[in-house]
Amino acid sequence: YRAKAAGGGVQRYHAALSEEAQRRSELERSLSDVLERGELWLAYQPVVELASGQAVGCEALLRWQSPVHGAVSPAQFIPIAEERGFIREIGAWVLREACGRAAQWQREGLELRVAVNVSAVQLRDPHFARDVAATLRAAGLPPASLELEVTETAVMADLPGAIAQLSQVRALGVSVALDDFGTGYASLELVRELPLDKLKLDRSFVTGAERDRRRQVIVASTIRMAGDLGLQVVAEGVETTQQQDMLLALGCPLAQGYLYARPLCPEDLLNLLARTLRRGA
Ligand code: C2E
Ligand code: MG
Ligand code: MG
Ligand code: MG
Repeated sequence: YRAKAAGGGVQRYHAALSEEAQRRSELERSLSDVLERGELWLAYQPVVELASGQAVGCEALLRWQSPVHGAVSPAQFIPIAEERGFIREIGAWVLREACGRAAQWQREGLELRVAVNVSAVQLRDPHFARDVAATLRAAGLPPASLELEVTETAVMADLPGAIAQLSQVRALGVSVALDDFGTGYASLELVRELPLDKLKLDRSFVTGAERDRRRQVIVASTIRMAGDLGLQVVAEGVETTQQQDMLLALGCPLAQGYLYARPLCPEDLLNLLARTLRRGA
C-alpha cells in the first residue's frame, strides 16, 4: 500500500514536471516572434522624491499580453528569452520604446527621466554602449534623461565587460543604477568596483522594516553609505505610509512602490501625473 502511494506520488511528480516543461516550450515558441506579433508593451512606474512628493522619473517595466497564455510575468518570460537568445532583440526594442516615449513626453513638456532594465546578455555585448548612444540619437532624447538598471547577476556574469560598457554609457551622460541592492552575494564589492549613480534598495529590506530592527538598520546604513559615496538611493516596494515615514526620517531621497502607483500604461501615467505627484503641482 505504501509503495503504491509513493508510486502515485512519483507519477504525479512526473506529470507535473512534464506539464511545466510543456508550458515552458510553449512560451519559448510564442516568444520567438513576440515582437512581430506586437504583444509586448511597457508599463511605467513613477519614482517619487520623498521630500516633495513629486514624481522625478519612472521605471519602464516590460509586459507581455499573449492571446494564448494571457498576461505573462517578466520574472517568468525574461529568463526564457535570455536562455533562447531572444533578449537581445527584445532588450533593444525596450530601449527604443522607452527612449521614444520619454522624448515624446519631453516634447509635450513633461520632464521625466526613464529607467530601463538591462539583462546580462545585453551587457555582455561589446557594442552595447554604442547601441545605447544610437538609440538616444534616433529618439532625440538627451542622455541625462535615461537611466539603466543592472542587477548583480547581470553584472557578475562578466564584471570587467560590464564595467567597460557601463563606463562608456556614463561617459555619454546616461546614469546607472544597481537594482535589487542587497540581495546578491557581492553587493559591497559591486559598490566598490562599478561605475554607479544610484542604488535601488531591494523591496525585501523595505517590507516589514517598520517592525524589524535588523532591516531598519540595513536600510539606514545603506542610505548613509550611499550619501557618503555621492550615490542616490531609491527604496523599492514602498506600500505603506509607515514605510514612507520611516524612509523620510532616515533621509532616503527617493521611493517607488504601490503606495504611489502601480506600473501603468502611458496614458494612465499621464492622467495620474496630471492629478497628483506632479512637479510644481
Ligand atoms: P525590478 O526591476 O526590480 O522591478 C521592480 C518590480 O517590483 C516590478 O515587478 C514592479 O512591478 C514590482 N513592484 C513595484 N512596486 C511594488 C510594490 O510596492 N510592491 C510589490 N510587491 N511589488 C512592486 P515586475 O514588473 O513584475 O518585474 C519583475 C522584474 O522583471 C523586474 O524587477 C526586472 O528585473 C525584470 N524586468 C522587467 N522589465 C524588464 C525589461 O524590460 N528588461 C529586463 N531585462 N528585465 C525586466
Ligand atoms: Mg528595475
Ligand atoms: Mg528592483
Ligand atoms: Mg526586483
